[in-house]
Amino acid sequence: MLFNPEYPSLKLEDPEEKAENRLAKSQRKFLGSPVKAAPAQPWLLNAVGDIGNFKNASTSAIDQWLQAWRMPPRSWERPDILSSRAVFVGLADTADMASVSTLQGGAPFVTVSSRFIKLCTQISEIFPLFGILVASDPTLDEIQAMRSLFQYLEPNSTLDVPMAQLLQSASDPLFIERTTAAAVRWSIAHEMAHAVAGQKDRQNAYKRVSDLMPNMEASQWGPKRYKLEKYEVSLRRYRDEIACDLLANDFILDSPFAADDLITQVSGALLALEALKWEGWHDDRSALSPTHPSPTLRFKIVLNDWLTKLADPDVWKVRERPGALGIEDLAHWVGFEKWGSGAYRSHRDGATWQDDIDAVRQHLTQSIPEIMNDTIYAKTDEGIFRVQHTAR
Ligand SMILES: [Zn+2]
Repeated sequence: MLFNPEYPSLKLEDPEEKAENRLAKSQRKFLGSPVKAAPAQPWLLNAVGDIGNFKNASTSAIDQWLQAWRMPPRSWERPDILSSRAVFVGLADTADMASVSTLQGGAPFVTVSSRFIKLCTQISEIFPLFGILVASDPTLDEIQAMRSLFQYLEPNSTLDVPMAQLLQSASDPLFIERTTAAAVRWSIAHEMAHAVAGQKDRQNAYKRVSDLMPNMEASQWGPKRYKLEKYEVSLRRYRDEIACDLLANDFILDSPFAADDLITQVSGALLALEALKWEGWHDDRSALSPTHPSPTLRFKIVLNDWLTKLADPDVWKVRERPGALGIEDLAHWVGFEKWGSGAYRSHRDGATWQDDIDAVRQHLTQSIPEIMNDTIYAKTDEGIFRVQHTAR
């Protein structure tokens, strides 16, 4: 058999967690088949009330998304200060995956497209299969052939039966829902940065790039883009995009969502950039954009920023530390990104997925002070909840 039936990140082997494990498994079974097309997305419905109707969106409705992010004390008395409390969010069928505009009266309105959510859902269906694939010690040909899975991401694609069964065998609806929610959350944070971050915030955020990736502009942007008309304007907008990516990381880190499951929030940021990559691929085969850096470059920068954050002991003083399975997930995103980009091909001298995954795993296990139990989630009619760990 080519595939190990258990995705490594879903293996829950600790005998002391057996009861929780059983509960989580029974919940998973209860959920049945994986999400196919994108159905109504309950987390976003809850967030904005009447989807697509800007007039009915309310600031109170987005609290669960953006609760208290960077909210200055008593900010409601300071209408001159923009905060998450003043950012509206809605779902629409726009061409942009996510964008921000201004409502009458000056309040920023973030629009997330249904296509973006569908792509996130589909990519998080494919992601566990990558874990299964690499665990089965594939040949270069096998890992290359499996990239046909990405046909699933074409608009209006239909899957043949073996592929559909393969996806279903690995699908984890809780992972899909939680990671997609985190991806939407990160995208809202990015758009929010465009809307509310000041000039100084952006400049400081962008400065971090030179620490993370020295010479990035000279080696990645300059040579490819000097032919662009209005190069200076383009460069400014590239820098602003990167700055907003890094500010989105900051906003997410400061949000309540990072308190008990930071790893899923990081996964969400990476998933969002994967969705942008595939959207670009279907639109224009990822031609150079005059305004945006490539999603693959953004993925690298965003990931490196997160790895720096996760290596900071102060980050873990007030947040729950991840378990080994969460770390596996994060390590596998790096391999997944390169796999999806076609990096693992013989002529690219790139059959090194295991090295890539190992490097991130090693970085994380060395830099996070103490690995904890993985959090287990279950789902009922009332939504997803955390299963409490039993005392050790
Ligand atoms: Zn942007």
